[in-house]
Amino acid sequence: MNTELVKITIEDSDEKFNKAVELLRNEEVVGMPTETVYGLAGNALSPLAVSRIFEAKGRPTDNPLIVHISEFSEIYDLVKAVPEEAKRLAEKFWPGPLTIILPKADKVPYCTTGNLETVAVRCPSHEIARRLIKLSGLPLAAPSANLSGKPSPTKADHVYEDLKGRIPFIIDGGDCAEGVESTVITLAGDKPRLLRPGNVTLNELVGVLGEVEVDDAVLNPLKSTETASSPGMKYKHYSPDAKITLVKGSFDAFCEFVNAFDNKTYAMIFNEDSVENLKIPYIKYGFADYKNLAHNLFDSLRELDKIGAKQCFVRYPDDENKDNLAVLNRLLRAAGFNVIEV
Ligand code: AMP
Ligand code: MG
Repeated sequence: MNTELVKITIEDSDEKFNKAVELLRNEEVVGMPTETVYGLAGNALSPLAVSRIFEAKGRPTDNPLIVHISEFSEIYDLVKAVPEEAKRLAEKFWPGPLTIILPKADKVPYCTTGNLETVAVRCPSHEIARRLIKLSGLPLAAPSANLSGKPSPTKADHVYEDLKGRIPFIIDGGDCAEGVESTVITLAGDKPRLLRPGNVTLNELVGVLGEVEVDDAVLNPLKSTETASSPGMKYKHYSPDAKITLVKGSFDAFCEFVNAFDNKTYAMIFNEDSVENLKIPYIKYGFADYKNLAHNLFDSLRELDKIGAKQCFVRYPDDENKDNLAVLNRLLRAAGFNVIEV
């Protein structure tokens, strides 16, 4: 299959979207930019389109998809009922990087929800994503547009690298502003529960809802006997080919430890780390400020494969700061929970 990669900006006219809209209406899939990461979009109500998403990504079929809508009112079509909490969250964070889980309406097929009775819904803030949803007239299931297991794509080129020949069309809308996937919260249980941290932070959610539980899988590996409340968390995730190890400790101790390795070993460090004492090659992945780290994280992990790194030691972000949950959650999974202290 030939994969077309087309640049679209918000100034472009609706005609520019024709090809993508036609593909979506014909149950095909399209790579689209969102403010979090690039998504692989297809009609969320079409089992054929949804099966194409799973096939193109090589995604396990029990890993549910997030359904994207262009405005709040479209949620009523997808869920059984919209509770007060969902309205308050949407008012504050939509359009934006928050996904809300609720009991699904009958018309949402089980293939979209990974056989669950609930559905995940998000209204993205990216203008191109919202226009594509509006113009197609469809709710769009759109998981991250990477091969399953790889770091999520934050540039159209990342989508092309992973899915070239597997999907017909990619919209290049520039780099993603946020760089990590949406925050996922479920309102389908007794209490609101954070399933996946993102750039809408725990503190911000608590500010709107009062109490929010944090799912154990946010910062811990799933025990083999547990069922995942967020199925995506049980899979190996975000991993480059290089073996990733997170290293806790001062930068001096970090350098002393990693300098013993050869030059196929890389370091991923903070922008403010001064490198005179570092003897191995390195990538700076951002200032220790959390949104900056989130923005560059996946691109840095992909960079390791491009340069042929065998392993990489990564500076551990401050885990006292709850705003770092999103970056920590992704890094811990990229490292298979491999953390050492120096
Ligand atoms: P991705 O689209 O790749 O960002 O992954 C979406 C993630 O959202 C999945 O891996 C799940 O962990 C989570 N998710 C989606 N739908 C549900 C649902 N109905 N219940 C719980 N978690 C969900
Ligand atoms: Mg994903």
